[in-house]
Order: sequence, then structure tokens, then C-alpha cells
Amino acid sequence: MIDDAQGRFVVDFGASSMTALKAQNVDPASIDAVYLTHLHGDHFGGLPYLLSHRRFISNPETPLTIAGPPGFSERLRALSDCVFPDIWADGWGLDLQLVEIPPGEECQIAGRTVRSEKVRHSAGPEPATALRISGGGIVIAYSGDTGWTDALIDISAGSDLFICDCNDRHDQSFDGHLSYDTLCRQLSRLDTKRLIVTHLGPDMISATDTPMVERAFEGMVIRF
Ligand SMILES: [Zn+2]
Ligand SMILES: [Zn+2]
Repeated sequence: MIDDAQGRFVVDFGASSMTALKAQNVDPASIDAVYLTHLHGDHFGGLPYLLSHRRFISNPETPLTIAGPPGFSERLRALSDCVFPDIWADGWGLDLQLVEIPPGEECQIAGRTVRSEKVRHSAGPEPATALRISGGGIVIAYSGDTGWTDALIDISAGSDLFICDCNDRHDQSFDGHLSYDTLCRQLSRLDTKRLIVTHLGPDMISATDTPMVERAFEGMVIRF
């Protein structure tokens, strides 16, 4: 979640995101935009509950923009119809904008400059992407879920903060996530003011020999 000159946005909104916001005393109605990297449940599965909160509890008059990879609107509708049948049909009764982000193109979405690039991660027919979002002079980059791809060099170049997948301590035969070992080999190619790793799997969480990276943790606050 990032507070900037435009307001407050989140990158991805997983199945546990409503719980996480509650734990940090953040009002879900204060979010003006959600930018999605890809369509796995741990990255977009919480959206029906965000919409439900806006419709039935907070009912804010401010618009909400949800942006994601091409095809995300249909998947979001399918998810919504599965857990809250029929409510999508009236657009949730909300001022809701859905914007599909074409990979490789710079777009203006909800007052911010956004670019996505395809990454190495299988998430169904819709591409998995990394995101670069800038507004108010701050550039935030996020790898999403991915194995190593040179697209990460481009997406994070000159960023103030690069949040990067580091699911595994060691390289795995499945290369849909990054490992600490891989990241260490690629660190010198990344140009960012601050790199923070996230999406930590069990062996990465318990590892005590990862001095080359800074880890994200629940409730972490960064000020620019
Ligand atoms: Zn994923
Ligand atoms: Zn994930």
C-alpha cells in the first residue's frame, strides 16, 4: 500500500488483504486504486471483499480504479460471481473503473504513470506482469511473481523502491519464483535506490544467511 500525492493505492490485493488492512487500522474505503500484477488468488483473491466492503459497509462516494493485465476484468467478474452471485450485474452499485494494462506501454491510470512488463510465471491465459508505478516524483517497482527475467532490470531501473519476489532460499527446478541465490547473482544488474524482498516461502523465512537483501515484514513502513 502506497500513499502518494494522488491518494492511496495498493499493488495486488490477495485473499488475506482485508484482514491485513484491518490489522493495520487502514480503512479499505481510503484506497483509490488497485494495480494487479497477475491473477493468482494470493494477488487478487481479496477483491470481491474489498468491493463488498465499499458497497455494504463504507459506501464511499470516491471512485475506485482497478487495473490489471489484459483479460483481468473477466476473471474478476468470474471470481465475483462465484463468491457473491449476481452483484456484478449492477457494477456493485459503485463508481468502479476497470482498466486493462497493455504490457510494454506507458499508461496514465488513476493519475499515475504505469507500465507493466510480462514476466516468467504461469497464471492462466492472462499474462503475469511486473509493474512500475510513478506519481508525485516517486517510482515504485514490483516484480510480481516471477523467475528471473531481464524485464526486471528495465522495470526497476532508477526506481526509488523495488519490491521483489524472493520465494525460495535456493534455486528450484520450478522457476516461476525467484530465489535468494538467483537474486544475488543478478543484484549488480539492478539499479534501484532500495530493494526489498517479499513473497517469502518457508525456507526463505527461516534462513539466517541472507545478508544481501532487506526483507519485507507485516506492518513495515517506509518513508520517502
Ligand atoms: Zn502467482
Ligand atoms: Zn504469489
